[in-house]
Amino acid sequence: MVSPKAEKKPARKTAVARPALGHWIGGKERPSISGQTFPVVNPATGLDMAAVARGQAADADAAAKAADAALRGPWSKFSPRQRARALFEIARLIRANAESLAELESQNAGKPIGEARGEVEAAAGCFEYYAGAVSKFFGETIPVGASGLDFTLREPVGVCALITPWNYPLVIASWKLAPALACANAAVLKPAEATPLTALRLARICAEAGVPEGVVNVLTGFGPEAGEPLVKHPLVRKVSFTGSTAVGRHLMALAAPSLKRVSLELGGKSPSLVFDDADLDRCAPDAAGAVFSNAGQDCCARSRALVHEKIYDDFVEKVAACAKKLRVGDPRDPKTEMGPLISQRQKDRVLGYVAAGKEEGAELVCGGAAPDFGGGFFVTPAVFAGVAPRMRVFQEEIFGPVLCATPFKTEDEAVALANGTDYGLSGSIWTRDVGRALRLARRVQSGVLSINSSSSVHIEAPFGGFKASGLGRELGMKALELYSEVKNVFISDR
Ligand code: NAD
Repeated sequence: MVSPKAEKKPARKTAVARPALGHWIGGKERPSISGQTFPVVNPATGLDMAAVARGQAADADAAAKAADAALRGPWSKFSPRQRARALFEIARLIRANAESLAELESQNAGKPIGEARGEVEAAAGCFEYYAGAVSKFFGETIPVGASGLDFTLREPVGVCALITPWNYPLVIASWKLAPALACANAAVLKPAEATPLTALRLARICAEAGVPEGVVNVLTGFGPEAGEPLVKHPLVRKVSFTGSTAVGRHLMALAAPSLKRVSLELGGKSPSLVFDDADLDRCAPDAAGAVFSNAGQDCCARSRALVHEKIYDDFVEKVAACAKKLRVGDPRDPKTEMGPLISQRQKDRVLGYVAAGKEEGAELVCGGAAPDFGGGFFVTPAVFAGVAPRMRVFQEEIFGPVLCATPFKTEDEAVALANGTDYGLSGSIWTRDVGRALRLARRVQSGVLSINSSSSVHIEAPFGGFKASGLGRELGMKALELYSEVKNVFISDR
């Protein structure tokens, strides 16, 4: 384990130590109408790294109005080809600024720098994909009974509220903004209060790429203060939310009276199903990576390992060995494999689950400690064995580096365990038996599954959850359906 570099610690900066960053509204940086700001913390040190505007209803109103006005401005005259060019240019500029974006994301979200670089590249790739998609998403002609021509048009929904979490700030903002722009909408992006910095940079990049003012707005602030008035705003027609299931449910109810379009990417408690014919030398490190990467703060984290009893002990030993080897520490150090959690609150929450697991009778095989690295929010990767379905650590999303291992005897039992939570986002099936892989791919209730792999996300393929894990599918061509309305037109030939 390595500790953050033992350089002189700066005195704790306050929100006023440097000018606060404003919202990005109507193509300009703007302070909050109230004048209030709040600090943004570096989770590896616990120190303030910036201050940003604290948005409230009046700021949400200004942002929604700017976006609405932009829908009637030059943006509405952009041909599909011009929109595609603007999106390609955003991708190019993200790459041109890759190192500074990666450093910012790494510092703000506590990500190991190598991972942050990968995420910046993924954001660029996402804009590139939707730049290409602009010209490949179109309506159809339909042979109807009446005499004439029937065809469909794809039209923008209008002003889209894009609300994002702190675990992949730039990536998830891109997943929403790129298809929203591809479909000619205007957007107000409300990044998580903990990680607003790369969203503000992305808005500037969009402006530099030639996206007209007001098409991309960023409203910084807290969920109930800034996000909620945005969701309720009468000019907002679409809400795309990624975050916790509890908030997603609440926002869906808020959007209901005005029948806004809603898509939700929510929590998960995803399983790895490991059968006795699995290649354990490949599966164990992969299963460890699938729950410990991003310090477990990943909606697709395979936080439950359901393992055939014949290989259960072997699996637990191998996965715990991987956990113990992980280098936890300073995100700036290229050798670091796991950084801190996002906040003291998240650290307390994860440690609370570690305590709950022990109290409920699970065996803590390793990790679950809080090393003192001088102010950061670190927790070491934990493996629990003997986890029963009735336990909270089996049922509830921890969103931290905690793997829960549970043995099973039969295929039916494995499926019942896999489906035995409220969630259904991702899952992995480890077996060399193709028939079993196919049977289980059908039976596991989950929006995303991988066989002999833990990968969940491909820009080109749909992503989203069953059950309490969400509504709608992001990424791939499916995402364009979230950001467009279908209009059917019939022309009589008489
Ligand atoms: P969160 O729900 O607390 O916050 C997410 C966003 O919603 C933030 O921008 C927050 O400010 C905003 N928000 C909170 N309360 C609000 C309110 N009342 N009105 C409007 N906006 C509000 O979630 P989080 O803690 O930032 O992120 C962690 C959660 O996100 C986990 O549950 C995780 O599984 C989920 N997540 C899901 C996916 C996915 O694709 N399914 C991806 C990443 C994270």
